Amino acid sequence: MIDFKQASKLYSNRTQPAVSNISLQVDRGEFVFFVGPSGAGKSTLIKLIFREQALTSGEIKIEGRDLSILKESELLSHRRKIGMVFQDYRLLKQKTVYENVAFALEVIGRSPEEIRSKVPAVLAEVGLAGKEKAFPTELSGGEQQRVGIARAIVKDPLIILADEPTGNLDRDNAWQIMELFEAINRRGTTVIIATHALDMVEHMKKRVVALENGLIIRDERQGSYSYEH
Ligand code: ADP
Ligand code: ADP
Repeated sequence: MIDFKQASKLYSNRTQPAVSNISLQVDRGEFVFFVGPSGAGKSTLIKLIFREQALTSGEIKIEGRDLSILKESELLSHRRKIGMVFQDYRLLKQKTVYENVAFALEVIGRSPEEIRSKVPAVLAEVGLAGKEKAFPTELSGGEQQRVGIARAIVKDPLIILADEPTGNLDRDNAWQIMELFEAINRRGTTVIIATHALDMVEHMKKRVVALENGLIIRDERQGSYSYEH
């Protein structure tokens, strides 16, 4: 479903590519961790899949579509298929929990009826029933990230892309968020998570794609974070 072929990205003000010669296939329904030190290229891969950044050379196809030749309208429909989750949540502070999730559907033109039925269902699924009227600043970090995840899944994406989603959370909350991603994945959604969270990656026994200096140095089906363990 996601197919990188010898893909490289050189940011315009740089001499070294952020990722080089990446060949990587991710099938529908997979759960994949991108791991590696800071600066390894994890975020860049995520941005390339979302087509927030464009490749310098090589190719990325999503469901057979070449991302480098999308027209504006195709770009929007591509992004609709992807739910993004961020380390810093990126919620709208002036909107309530309900409104934050509803807004994700409003901007893609979904009907008020659909919004009224989906938003409460998704909030219940992430464990936020009863918090609809709260504002982000009234929530804990773990709860804010649950809103972030609700907003990502409410549009029934094919793929969830999460960049350090537990980076600002304590251990317990981080685990709960990982369990939520696992539940989402069990429903068939492809989940890709860039993370430093060694102990979680070890424990989850999912596919691990390890990056260093922009290169894939390891790709294991039931991987761990590093060889040392
Ligand atoms: P990671 O997510 O693993 O920390 P990144 O993909 O953010 O790695 O970064 C990979 C390399 O690309 C780093 O050297 C980083 O400094 C560089 N980089 C990332 N984003 C940009 C950008 N917008 N402009 C220039 N260089 C960037
Ligand atoms: P429906 O058939 O009405 O979509 P579902 O039981 O499939 O009902 O979904 C119930 C809710 O869960 C819906 O609001 C939907 O947006 C959300 N949902 C659908 N797919 C997923 C998924 N893979 N992970 C998490 N939530 C999902």
